[in-house]
Amino acid sequence: MQEQLKYLVELQILENKKAELIRRREETPLKIAALHKDFAAFESEYLLKKTEHDHAVQLRRSEEKEIADLEARIRRSRQKEHEVKTNREYQALLKEIQDLQDEIRSREDHVLELMEKIEKLAGELKTLGQELEKRRKALENEEAALKQESDQVDDKIAHLERLQAEVREKIDPPLLNKWTTLAQRYKGVAVAPVSQGVCQICHLNIPPQRFIELLRDQDILTCPHCHRFIYHPENEVYRAVHDDFKDF
Ligand SMILES: [Zn+2]
Repeated sequence: MQEQLKYLVELQILENKKAELIRRREETPLKIAALHKDFAAFESEYLLKKTEHDHAVQLRRSEEKEIADLEARIRRSRQKEHEVKTNREYQALLKEIQDLQDEIRSREDHVLELMEKIEKLAGELKTLGQELEKRRKALENEEAALKQESDQVDDKIAHLERLQAEVREKIDPPLLNKWTTLAQRYKGVAVAPVSQGVCQICHLNIPPQRFIELLRDQDILTCPHCHRFIYHPENEVYRAVHDDFKDF
């Protein structure tokens, strides 16, 4: 077994775990935004219903005010009854009162319709309002959980970085420099496992001779295509390294 290659593999596994956590951390604000969007959609449904309800209440009030005004006009017309001099004037006055009463009846019908509508909307609003509060609490809880998870991810990343620093100490400087250069150039992946003769990162075949050398595990080798360090993950030593970091 090669100690140095083992450390390079360790450093890479830690780097992969870190990259995964960073990706997860970046998802948190997106997840929170999606939760808020869902809530806002439901809230606007509620507000639309509330507007409809309030509008009906307002309309009912204005109809009732109109009815009160019409009733006052009828009272005033009736007071004029003894002032009329001719039969024609009297008939005209009766007609005026009749028209006002007809209008009141029509408005009263409208008020009844509005009352039914308001009752129905109030019932729906109550149900929606309860659901809205339930969703508001759920949103708060989910958001808090996501933030807490995100804090935990920060801690884990810091932990991985400490472990990486320890591993770096053990790697020969020229190898470490090469690892760092490769990692910078290839999106953080400087070490590639090779399975059944195929580089698992660039997916190209390793020449048979080099694969045999790799199985012998005596030199630090690289993939001839993507130039990353290569190792055989089925080798007990590297499998053990993977197992060691499984739960991170
Ligand atoms: Zn490769």
